[in-house]
Formats: sequence, structure tokens, C-alpha cells
Amino acid sequence: MAFEPPHLSRRILRGDVLDFLADPGFLPPHEAPGVRFRPDHRVLIDQQRIQAVVPADQALPPDWAAVPEEDHRGRLILPGFIDTHVHCPQLDVIASFGTELLDWLNTYTFPAETRYADPAVSELGARRFLQALWSHGTTSAMVFATVHKVSADALFAHAAATHMRLITGKVLMDRHAPDGLRDDVAQAERDCIDQIQQWHGKDRQSFAVTIRFAPCSTPEQLVMAGALCAAYPGVYMQTHVAENRAEVAWVSELFPDARSYLDVYDRDGLIGERGVLAHGIWLDDNDLAVMREHGAQIAHSPSSNLFLGSGLFDWRRTEAAGVNVSLASDVGGGTSLCLLRNMADAYKIQAMQGQRLTAWKALYTATAGAAKHLGLADEIGLVEPGLFADLAVWDLAVSDVTQHRLGLASNLHEQVFAWMTLGDERNLVTTLVAGHTRFSRAS
Ligand SMILES: [Zn+2]
Repeated sequence: MAFEPPHLSRRILRGDVLDFLADPGFLPPHEAPGVRFRPDHRVLIDQQRIQAVVPADQALPPDWAAVPEEDHRGRLILPGFIDTHVHCPQLDVIASFGTELLDWLNTYTFPAETRYADPAVSELGARRFLQALWSHGTTSAMVFATVHKVSADALFAHAAATHMRLITGKVLMDRHAPDGLRDDVAQAERDCIDQIQQWHGKDRQSFAVTIRFAPCSTPEQLVMAGALCAAYPGVYMQTHVAENRAEVAWVSELFPDARSYLDVYDRDGLIGERGVLAHGIWLDDNDLAVMREHGAQIAHSPSSNLFLGSGLFDWRRTEAAGVNVSLASDVGGGTSLCLLRNMADAYKIQAMQGQRLTAWKALYTATAGAAKHLGLADEIGLVEPGLFADLAVWDLAVSDVTQHRLGLASNLHEQVFAWMTLGDERNLVTTLVAGHTRFSRAS
């Protein structure tokens, strides 16, 4: 029988720990609240959770003395990123040329999603996708599968087996989609209830009532979806809203009696504090008031908005209206699973509107902010005792240009902002999910 070393379930990571205790807002970097930087600290991990975070010059508890230290001095240790809107099957169509949203769906996305009816494709796709999230520094995600129940089952199964925090559900779409990619109200309802019973609350899995977007659901299906949200108050709701102007115009044709695109969802009780709506670029003041009233959030998807030419999301206006905002890759409309790249795009989108997004605000949004708005602050988002050890270790620089630039930085924000702007998944050293290494860069 193999010898098992003591403290196999314990690990110590040493490095510069950065997380956020409050929303830095749109304040200048030096005035922003909530930034917690702990240089040269040890993160003590026991099984799946963080046990303590202590300065490196402080003695370890005696029962930790034999635990080997993983030395990441000079590197950043951050909470794993939380991607609040991303499509598993769309890794197959990322970086597809030449279309806007509605065209892009019909030309590339719907044909690709049809293949996920095959359980083998769904299984392989789920594994590939979760591994891809981890290799981009993301440890939790709110994910669109496809209309096929098997595609969401595969994601749930693989996430549960790896103790990853995942929110997903089979996609509802019963019209305006090709053969092989539509459900019907009765079957969809049965599939959703099955998934709620099988997966919701199991390990770190949560079910989301997942509406593709208003044009792909009949009014009857939207009523059914609202009834599910009412019958199972712990479940999430995810969909798209007001991404592109042609889409907004189409929704007003399809639902002539709705006040607005958002109202199509609101009148069926779909907008609640567990609601995550991607994009929201073209919402009016009335819509924002409805979002605020219900505590729902916008999943801002910068690289997708730029790539599909959808529009410039006004983050500051949305937050000033009291609406929560999280950050998302929206792959495959988005061009990278790496939230660092999406933060750099978010900065540019705000700059186009005369606003300045600090690294503090961007990083908070992708960690503690997302955790808070998802109701998961007691589980993820900080490097804090009691929370899950969902962590990513990052090199500040892996290129000569970045190294040179960082050498000239005069304060921490300048350094971290340059890392955020110039860095990507190549800067990622290792990713832990529930204390277990799920990605490690080849040395
Ligand atoms: Zn999307």
C-alpha cells in the first residue's frame, strides 16, 4: 500500500495577496475604498477552504510546520475570476468573421449548438470548456449550455466532480431557431424541473432558468419560465437583453404590447435579485429603474460588444441608476475567456465615453462584486478564511515590454493597471478550485 504523506489535504501558497473589501466605484485610484493588498503573505488552505492568511514573517501554527510551501513570491494571488455570462458550446465559433448579432446567431452559433444534441459532444464540450475557464483564471461561472438537457447535465456533472461553483441550466428556446434546436413548453418545463431536482444545491451547483432571448421564446414559454422562478425561489435566471439595435427593434415587433424589451421579461416575473441579464446596452431610464427595484444585474460583456459591434455600454450611468454590474466574457461573441482582456476592453469602452475605469473597480467587479450580486459572498470572491480556496496566481509580467513598463511604475495601481491592460492568460501561473490545482502553466 502506498505511503500517504501527512497533511495531504493542506497547502500553503506564498505571494502578494490582492482582493477587495468594498466597491472602489469610479473614484480615482488613490481615493478608492476597499483595496486590500497584503504583500508577501501565506495563504493556508485546508481541504477545500482557506484556513488563514498570515504575513510571511509570522510563525505558522505548529501543526502547519510540515506542510510544504508553494513559493510565488513577487506574484499576485487573487480570488479566481467570476464570469457571469459565457456560452459553453460557443468555443466552437469564437472569432467568426463578419456579422452582427442576429446574423451571427443564424450563420455560426445555431448550427454549432445543434451538434450538442449528441451526448458525446456535450460531454467532451463540457470538459473542454471548464478546463478552458480554469486556464484563463476563472473559477466560477454562469454558463449557457444549449437547448438540449444533456448539454447542461454534462456541465453540472463535470463541475460537481471538480467541486467548481457553476450556475447553468438547459436553454429555453421554442421558436425562431432551426430544427434540432427548439424545445416546446411542456418538455422544457419537465426538463427544467428534472434539473432543479437533480442538480440545484448539489455540491456547488445552482440551476438557472435560462432564456436564450425574448425572440426565441413564445409568450407561453416565458410565462412558464416565470412560473418556475416563482415556484423555486432559490434558482437564478439568465438571459440577454438590449444588446443590439436590430434585436431591440425585432423584440418590439414580436411583443407590440410590451413597454420595452426588458418589460417582456418583467411582466412575467423574470426580473429578480437572482436575475443576470447580459449586455443591457440599449436600456432606457425606466428599464434601469425596474432593474434596480428588483436587484437584478447586468453582465457587461466588453469584448463581445466590441467584436459584434453592438454598442458602448455606459457602465457609470447604469450604476448611477442603482443597477448592479458584473463582468463577463460572453464567448463566443466575446473574443477571450480571459477576464483580464475583457477588463482592458471595458476600460476602452468607458474611455470612448469620457469615463475612467480603474484596475480596482474592474478587479472588484470580477471577484467580490460578482460574488455579492450573485448572493455568494460567503463562498467566493475574497482571499478570506472560511471561503473556498478558489484562487489564481498571476505573473505581473511575462514579456520584456511589460517588465520594462512595470519597472517604471511609481505605485501599486500603476503596476496593477499595466498588468491588467498588457496581461492575458499567458500571465497565469496556476489556478486552484476548491483547494485543488486545476491548471498549472508548464514551466
Ligand atoms: Zn451571450
